[in-house]
Parts: sequence; C-alpha cells; structure tokens
Amino acid sequence: MKRQSIVAANWKMNGDLALVEEMANGLNSLELKDHQTVLINTPAPYLTALSSALTHDQIKVGAQNLNENEKGAFTGEISALMLNDLAVQYVVLGHSERRSIYGETSELVAKKVAHALNNGLVPVLCIGESLEEREGGQTEASLEAQLAPVIAEIGIEKFVDVVVAYEPVWAIGTGKTASAAMAQETHEWIRSYLAAQNADVAQTVPLLYGGSVNAATAQELFAQPDIDGGLVGGASLKVEEFKNICLAV
Ligand code: PEP
Repeated sequence: MKRQSIVAANWKMNGDLALVEEMANGLNSLELKDHQTVLINTPAPYLTALSSALTHDQIKVGAQNLNENEKGAFTGEISALMLNDLAVQYVVLGHSERRSIYGETSELVAKKVAHALNNGLVPVLCIGESLEEREGGQTEASLEAQLAPVIAEIGIEKFVDVVVAYEPVWAIGTGKTASAAMAQETHEWIRSYLAAQNADVAQTVPLLYGGSVNAATAQELFAQPDIDGGLVGGASLKVEEFKNICLAV
C-alpha cells in the first residue's frame, strides 16, 4: 500500500511575517505527488497568516505544541480548541527540545497525543535517542520508552491517525544526519515494534525522519522503504532549500 508521504517543516521559534509570505508564495505552485502532504509547523502567532496565504490544498499548517487540558489557568499555553478555532489540523508533540528544555516526560507527551486526537488534530509524535543512548546500544530501549506510554494511553488502533517522527537527538541542528541505511534500520525497527501490537495499523503510520535533513540528503533518505518523509528544522526556513526537499519525495 502507498502510505501518505509528509514533508514537515519545524520553524521552532524562528521566522516572521515576511517569511510566512515568502514561503507561501514559494510553495503555492509546487507540483506535489498525489499521496504527498507538506506540513508547515510555525510558531502559533503565524498560523493564521500562513493558512490565509496558502492556496495549495496539499499544504497544511501545524502547531508545535499544545496543552493537555481543555482550558483554564495555564498562562502562556495553547489549547486544542484554540487550534480547532484556527482550523489547524496538525500538531508536533514530544519534540526533543520540549522534552529536554521543558521537562516533558513521555507520560505527559502521551496525554497530549490523546488530547490532540480527541480534538480532531493529527499529532506528529517525535521520538529519538540521545548520542549516549545510541553509543551505549540503548537506541531501541529509548524509543520503546517513548512509544510505550503513548500506546498505553491511546491504544494501538488510534495510531492510524498519528504521524511518528524519528529524530535522533544527536542529529537535530548539528549538521550530522544519520546515514540513510542507519535511519532505515531504525525506522524498520519502529514499524516492527508497532506491528507487534497491530500489523495493519503499523503499515499505515507515516514514519518521518528528522535531523539535519537538507536538499542534498533528502532524496536518499526518502527513498528508504520505511521512511515516509521528513521533519525539517533549519532547512525549512530557506524557501528554495525547503522546496527542493519537498520535491525529493
Ligand atoms: C527539528 O527541529 O525537528 C529538526 C529536525 O531540526 P534540524 O533539521 O535543524 O536538525
């Protein structure tokens, strides 16, 4: 079966209104494959402006986080209902920066994933091992520790509505991309881990690779059988570079 292929931008806390306009102008005429979606996860203040500027129906916008509660005294937080109000369809959850800088545990990420799904949002669930874990032979144990609480919280069947982004922490923003073979090996392990719970569901889940993806590395990465696209940080802030990454699918 042909899985959905997704190239997702993660602007992190970067960008401005000029980039919103430049990106939409650059991407609106992009010729994408039928099964392809491009997703741009901007800082929350730019979601509406970007949605308004985009005219391509295969290009969607997404948020980079949400709070696991419906509403209330959570100063500075963004709720799923607010994202619904803006017609945002996707949300990145469990990014390694949220885990390491803001102390988000896998249990909290699981609650956020459940809350996103309950409110009709597609979670892009980020998982990845540290350099220490990779070098200590703990990659699979680390990924399992991040995936298992989500499966326990939502049940494996709900993964038909989840996108998983595998992002080795040592490759994020460092210029060190995992080789295509190494990334494929880990993606294959993730899919088999999901398949052990439900083989049919595992075949539907788009697995994205993230970590210093650029136009030069995207094609080989995306050609791997278990890599269904990418989550792109730094290179997603450059219009031409990001366009070329989208075209590498
Ligand atoms: C990211 O922020 O998810 C990411 C993969 O960043 P970069 O592409 O810059 O490594």
